[in-house]
Amino acid sequence: MDAPEFLDPPPRTCVGCGHCCREAPCALSSRLYPGVRKCPELVYHDKRWWCAAVERARGPLREEYVSELYIGAGCCQPLFNQDRVKIPTPEACGWKESPASSTDWRSAFQHFCAALGGAMVSGDALWLIARYLRGKAGEEIAKEFLHHVFQNRPSFDNDFMGEFPRNRNGNEE
Ligand code: SF4
Ligand code: SF4
Repeated sequence: MDAPEFLDPPPRTCVGCGHCCREAPCALSSRLYPGVRKCPELVYHDKRWWCAAVERARGPLREEYVSELYIGAGCCQPLFNQDRVKIPTPEACGWKESPASSTDWRSAFQHFCAALGGAMVSGDALWLIARYLRGKAGEEIAKEFLHHVFQNRPSFDNDFMGEFPRNRNGNEE
């Protein structure tokens, strides 16, 4: 018979019970969706909960999220957390999909950025859009824009349309 979990020394492994994210949105969630009380990025599949923002992100953006969320460092709410023992389904814990996740606007945004990156749009125009996004929608959205445009911009476009981005972190030089 396994020893009771509370006898395990910390840190305890994250089992994907989703308890922490259901309790309160994290700082990343608050930046992506200011003011929400239920994080639209929290999803359930393969018998556990996941952060869709991390699943979706690629390259440096993903590394940033993994580092910020301490993914791999263990459970942040191991005590008195019964969800760790029996991971609840969305039905069992009454977690309904939020409008943001059902419309999947982030995915649409990423496809749009990718399409823009592949189009013959000048580097200066793309840079102005990134600056506008940073001012209106915040640093995270601007970084995501830069990331997906950069990933999809053919190198020959830089010769004809001007180099982009000037700084992959989205900061001005
Ligand atoms: S952004 Fe990800 S880690 Fe943060 S609350 Fe939402 S699902 Fe959890
Ligand atoms: S409460 Fe712990 S086990 Fe559950 S998702 Fe959060 S970090 Fe992972």
